[in-house]
Amino acid sequence: MLQVKSFVFNPFQENTYILFDETKEAVIIDAGCYNTSEFNLLKEFMISEKLDVKHYLNTHCHIDHILGNSFVCKEYNLKPKYSVEEIPVFNSGNTVAKMYGLNYTEGPVCTDFIREGNTINFGNTVLDLIHLPGHSPGSIGFYDKSNKVIICGDVLFQGSIGRTDLPLGNHEDLLLSIQTKLFTLPHEVKVYAGHGNATSIGEEIKYNPFFN
Ligand SMILES: [Zn+2]
Repeated sequence: MLQVKSFVFNPFQENTYILFDETKEAVIIDAGCYNTSEFNLLKEFMISEKLDVKHYLNTHCHIDHILGNSFVCKEYNLKPKYSVEEIPVFNSGNTVAKMYGLNYTEGPVCTDFIREGNTINFGNTVLDLIHLPGHSPGSIGFYDKSNKVIICGDVLFQGSIGRTDLPLGNHEDLLLSIQTKLFTLPHEVKVYAGHGNATSIGEEIKYNPFFN
C-alpha cells in the first residue's frame, strides 16, 4: 500500500513528497529543502522509516522544487530524473536563485530523462508518467493508478491552477493538460500538488473556478 509523506519547505512553501510502500523502498519528489534544519527533517524521516530511496524525481525544475536537489542527490547517491523539456528551466536555476536572493547549490543534471509512457518502479509500486505542459514545458505527473494517487507539481491546485506568466509558461497548454489528462482520471484520484492542500480530481472538476 502506497504511503505519501509531505513536507512544506523553503520560503515558497513548496510541498516535498516522499512516496513509499510496505517494502520500504521509496522515491523522493521535488526536494525543496533549503537549509540545515529542513535537510535534517527529511533525513530523519528517511532514517526513522528505514527507507531505501530508489529514485529522485522532479515534476518540473522551477527553483522552489529543486532547492534541495544537491542535498538529496549527494545524500542518496542519485541523479535527478526530469523531462528533457525541463533542461532550460533547470539551467536557469542559478540566475533565478540570484534574482530571489536564495542560497542555491546546483545539483547534478539529469542524464536519464523521463517522459510520458515511461513508468517509475519501486517496491510494489508503479508510477505512470503523464506529460502536463503549461506551467512549465516539461511538467510531469506521477500517477499511481492502483492506489489512485497523482503527484502533479504546479499544474492543478485545490481551487486553482498553476501560473503561466513565468518563462516558457503557456496558459492554453495548461488548460488543455488539465482538461484532457487530469480531468479524465477517475474522480476519486487524490491530487497532491506542489503547494497547498491535497485535493481530488472530482472536487476540482466540480469546484475549481477556472473550469466553472
Ligand atoms: Zn513551478
